[in-house]
Amino acid sequence: MRSCSLIAPAKINLYLEIIGDRSDGFHELVMILQSISLADRVDIKPSDTQKICIYCDHPHVPEDETNLAYRAAQLMCRVFPDVHANYGGVSIRIAKNIPVAAGLAGGSGNAAAVLVGINLIWNLGLTQPELEELAAELGSDIPFCVSGGTAIATGRGEKLDSLANLDNIWLVLAKYDNIGVSTPWAYKTYRQQYSDSYIADAAGIKSRTAKINSSPLVNAIVNKNAKEIGKLIDNDLEKVVLPEYPQVAKLKSAFAAQDILGTMMSGSGPTVFALCDSEAQAIAVKERVKTQINDSQLRFWVTKLVSHGIQIKSQT
Ligand code: ATP
Repeated sequence: MRSCSLIAPAKINLYLEIIGDRSDGFHELVMILQSISLADRVDIKPSDTQKICIYCDHPHVPEDETNLAYRAAQLMCRVFPDVHANYGGVSIRIAKNIPVAAGLAGGSGNAAAVLVGINLIWNLGLTQPELEELAAELGSDIPFCVSGGTAIATGRGEKLDSLANLDNIWLVLAKYDNIGVSTPWAYKTYRQQYSDSYIADAAGIKSRTAKINSSPLVNAIVNKNAKEIGKLIDNDLEKVVLPEYPQVAKLKSAFAAQDILGTMMSGSGPTVFALCDSEAQAIAVKERVKTQINDSQLRFWVTKLVSHGIQIKSQT
């Protein structure tokens, strides 16, 4: 195979709990992650040189070595130097549909797509667990982006346990174009304000982490009970992001006043989502909130939960 085109879905958090600090500077997290149909397209083909080249038409996405997709390709070149020498470099084109710095893991999804794509075009034959192991070296959300669907993520987010697929729920996403939240800022601020409640000992962290398996939210997911899921979604980072960004808090309140399953900020925000029973309901909710807030900076997407991570769209 010479080249391939991949679909890289965004993710939302259905649950995000911060339970402690880790010695590596990250937080101990308990999350439930969910892929959605809003996705970027990532095209990968051999480049004329040994180099990695990134092309992306989005003004806020870097085309240099700071792009997560570049770092994923660089990792593959480092781990498989002979294969790299044999096949040469890669050219990566990203068509961005996922809003940037939105708490939707857009960059992480692009990096996951590059790992999957290079595995294909270099005929490496890596398995999904092997790809996820490489992904964990690049970032906490990237292993999930490889496999996608619905999963419990613990540790710093890289330890995954798949859950029953939830693919009959629709959602409206909304994000202000002029608001971006830095993920490091959100976690740092949470630590400053809430570290008193952190669990410090390894045994305590282990038992708190294990509790998620028998939690009401996981039960609701296993039973595909959309109404219960909507009531039980929760995100600790709202406690620091919503007070700092009143517009985001107002957006969440506007969704909460609608006839929906539930609403929450995804990850470190500022994207807010509203879970809905049907596409028609999602479109109606979007129109009502759009009219009510009436701000040209506020963008909406109607999308749905999906049960897959990186997908191969075409290969030549
Ligand atoms: P997460 O939910 O994983 O924190 P996010 O959705 O909040 O991610 P991204 O869209 O991944 O955030 O972008 C965060 C920052 O990373 C942006 O400011 C952007 O400049 C940079 N970045 C690097 N590579 C990419 C990429 N391939 N796509 C988008 N942003 C990227």
